[in-house]
Amino acid sequence: MAHIVETAKSGRARCRTCGEGIAKDALRFGEEVPNAFSESGGTTFHWHHAQCAAKKKPSQLREALAVYTGDVHNREELEQLIAENELKQRPTTFPFAERSPSARAKCGECRNVIEKGALRVAVQREPDGPSLMIMPATPRYLHAACARQSLPGATADVLASIKKNSRGLTDADLAELGAALSDAHGQ
Ligand SMILES: [Zn+2]
Ligand SMILES: [Zn+2]
Repeated sequence: MAHIVETAKSGRARCRTCGEGIAKDALRFGEEVPNAFSESGGTTFHWHHAQCAAKKKPSQLREALAVYTGDVHNREELEQLIAENELKQRPTTFPFAERSPSARAKCGECRNVIEKGALRVAVQREPDGPSLMIMPATPRYLHAACARQSLPGATADVLASIKKNSRGLTDADLAELGAALSDAHGQ
């Protein structure tokens, strides 16, 4: 999905974050989403004030701002808000890794519980049908050591994409993940 930043062409849209109107000519963020009313797979935009998006959708706004060529009078302020909020945001691109916040999830490979605090890898669940297209993606969670089977490719490449998609992983987390992924390799 390609998200966009633009100045509002009219004052008719409402911000999906705060519910207030977005004034004409104000900078707004458009989140491209599947259009539930389109049978041909069309998309539509959910609009947000740029500042609201910086808090609620920081990663998406950062991507859109990076390619926006227009003038942003408060770019510095927005970028600071993005940086502050991005770490709190749940990753939306798979695969990503995180410390398990609870012992509720079961590993998608070995079916054993993933212990609280354990490093786990989230991968995209296979969609069961077209109705899932408009549902938020629910990931499959895997033990780091079990993730290898779901993530083909060289360990370094897998690790690089996980690093790119994850938030707040430490060097130690990455080292542990790398070891888990390469241990399982070739078994
Ligand atoms: Zn707003
Ligand atoms: Zn497992």
